[in-house]
Amino acid sequence: ARAQAMEVDESPEVAYDDIGGIDEQIREVREAVEQPLVEPERFEEAGIDPPSGVLLHGPPGTGKTMLAKAVANETDATFIKMAGSELVRKFIGEGSRLVRDLFELATEREPSIIFIDEIDAIAAKRTESKTSGDAEVQRTMMQLLSEMDGFETRGEVRIIAATNRFDMLDRAILRPGRFDRLIEVPEPNFDGREQILQIHTRDMNLSDDLDFTALASQTDGKSGAELESLATEAGMFAIRDGRTEVRMEDFEEAMEKLEEDGDAGDTITS
Ligand code: ATP
Repeated sequence: ARAQAMEVDESPEVAYDDIGGIDEQIREVREAVEQPLVEPERFEEAGIDPPSGVLLHGPPGTGKTMLAKAVANETDATFIKMAGSELVRKFIGEGSRLVRDLFELATEREPSIIFIDEIDAIAAKRTESKTSGDAEVQRTMMQLLSEMDGFETRGEVRIIAATNRFDMLDRAILRPGRFDRLIEVPEPNFDGREQILQIHTRDMNLSDDLDFTALASQTDGKSGAELESLATEAGMFAIRDGRTEVRMEDFEEAMEKLEEDGDAGDTITS
């Protein structure tokens, strides 16, 4: 069960140019995570400590996991992912044990990047969540913070966490020496959507009528993950129609379908 809780990837395939619309965030992550791994001596010479932990926050499907994987890829580091929800355990000591295992593995495989997704599952303000009021969950979080303390000078293990619910977080985890570099990853704007659509259609056989500008303006409010689905769905419409060339009309049909699916989803949850 322990092995299952962690996802280990020796060489994730994501590159920085697979990520659209968040160039500034890529730059910040490179500075906070990549540079300390690749050139630790620059930080030593300058007499500054690199950020202990980096926290990526923003809406779902905007590229937070991709960013963490891309840094691992670019630095030839092992990518080790753990979901915060996996750290919420029934039995006493089990969550802390997992945290210890996580850091042990990261040390064995260094250079490595620990990515903790949904950090809010163990680090929400007590008033905001039933689980974090739980003494066991508190202990798991304390274990995480104390493991992070142990890494300050080593630099071969970097820690990135992510959340969709920044407002819910216990501010104590943001203190210096903890997750002390915050990077907001927002929903893509017009240019971002255009870039993301271009990325996800790179390998497609596109017809000349494809208008990325029009698509970007018709997809206001869509995340990167939703734009990826749109491109895939458009490809499916072309195939269904017996074509291998993907046209603007396929994207229009795909948009309608995703709107309908989205509405159906809304009905179920409400
Ligand atoms: P969550 O908070 O739900 O975990 P996330 O922000 O970590 O989401 P990712 O897992 O990085 O989101 O993105 C999911 C998928 O959506 C990616 O594999 C990618 O195909 C697509 N995607 C998301 N954001 C972008 C982006 N900025 N550029 C290109 N593709 C993107």
